[in-house]
Amino acid sequence: NYKCKLLVVGGGSGGCTIAAKFARKLKKDEVFVLEPSTEHYYQPLWTLVGAGVKTVADTRRQEASVLPSNAKWIKDRAVSIDPKKGVVHTKNGDEIQYEYVVIAVGLKNDYDKVPGLSQALTDENSGVSTIYAPEYCEKTWRDLQRFNGGNAIFTFPDTLIKCPGAPQKIAYLADSYFRMTGTRSKSKVIFNTCLPVIFGVKKYADSLLKVVERKQIDVNYKTVLLEVRPDKKEAVFVNKDDKSKHTTMGYDLLHVTPPMSTPEFLRTNKELADVCGYLDVDKYTLQHKKYPNVYGIGDCTNTPNSKTAAAIAKQCHVLELNLVNTMAEQAPSANYNGYGACPLLTEYGKCILAEFVYDGVPHETLPFDQSRESTIAYYMKKDLFPFMYWNMMLKGYYHGPEFIRKIINPFGN
Ligand code: FAD
Repeated sequence: NYKCKLLVVGGGSGGCTIAAKFARKLKKDEVFVLEPSTEHYYQPLWTLVGAGVKTVADTRRQEASVLPSNAKWIKDRAVSIDPKKGVVHTKNGDEIQYEYVVIAVGLKNDYDKVPGLSQALTDENSGVSTIYAPEYCEKTWRDLQRFNGGNAIFTFPDTLIKCPGAPQKIAYLADSYFRMTGTRSKSKVIFNTCLPVIFGVKKYADSLLKVVERKQIDVNYKTVLLEVRPDKKEAVFVNKDDKSKHTTMGYDLLHVTPPMSTPEFLRTNKELADVCGYLDVDKYTLQHKKYPNVYGIGDCTNTPNSKTAAAIAKQCHVLELNLVNTMAEQAPSANYNGYGACPLLTEYGKCILAEFVYDGVPHETLPFDQSRESTIAYYMKKDLFPFMYWNMMLKGYYHGPEFIRKIINPFGN
């Protein structure tokens, strides 16, 4: 059994970043990271893996190499947490007592909520894949290469997901690939989304609708994947507003964005989670609403921002300042503004770099209208952002592009 000053639960994007910051501030082994995986992935590149531009190996590092050496890594999984006692229990039966805890456990894929999906994903010849998992994103690329015309269907589920732009990015890249290989003229590209709009921020939605029109992609709103029938190569969809309306579509390629939820130990914890199962934090300070020694970062919290690594860059600085205050028995004073970014790949070599804060207000860094498709944004997404992630963000040295914005775009867009 263990005792520590700060426990970070989850060693993904948010957990590593916060551990790096506090391992520098606190004494050796006062920071513990509880993380079961031996590998850490830069998930935003999985979209380009699906499109054949990168490999999954390009997105992977050993967990030990990204965790700070000054922190103690417990290679195990949280199965319960008691915030009243300040205790976490692990799968291997250990108990970890903490003074402060940061919950950074992300979102997991719930394949089993869609009957037939798991079976289809594991069958190499099914034509069904997802870029949302390291074990399947290279299958998306193989499916694109094998596609020989017919229906290519892309889905967006009826839950909160990470990177809400990715389900359409892969559809746009697939369309571009089919045009390069000559299969586009004998195929239909369909995007079935549970949302009533193409994107939540109007400025970028207007540009994306033009992309959809140019590419002649059929978009069906409020349409949710209900079931996959791999034996018949059929997908069943339901209307989000009228559950009695079902549509069955045949597919030759099906890209699924699975439903997602927080890990069970958090989702079912009545003290810490809100009614939907997300960690219930103040959307500005990132401090838990009931327990001041509990903070949250990243995809598992209920802050109403777009769940992205870009958001974590901004959140980590706010959390750092506020947790330092809490440790000094002062009130948290830094505020997260809801910043998130979504590099919307529209074709090979082109990208719309959406940047926005709470309430869908655009908040752009570059000195041009970022709702336009640009080549520079594509290379930022493909090469610059991964470099910054591994070398700056995970080491706790990157707080988002605000400093760049102030220099090159002082009046904003
Ligand atoms: P994660 O990085 O997922 O880490 C959660 C960690 O918690 C994992 O390591 C997991 O093993 C661990 N964990 C889970 N359960 C437990 C438990 N019980 N006990 C202990 N540990 C546990 N973001 C962008 O900014 N731009 C993009 O273009 C972009 N594109 C994306 C495309 C795809 C296909 C995907 C999948 C994501 C994309 N993202 C993008 C989103 C970004 O990757 C996530 O928002 C970010 O990684 C979330 O970080 P996190 O720390 O909250 O969760």
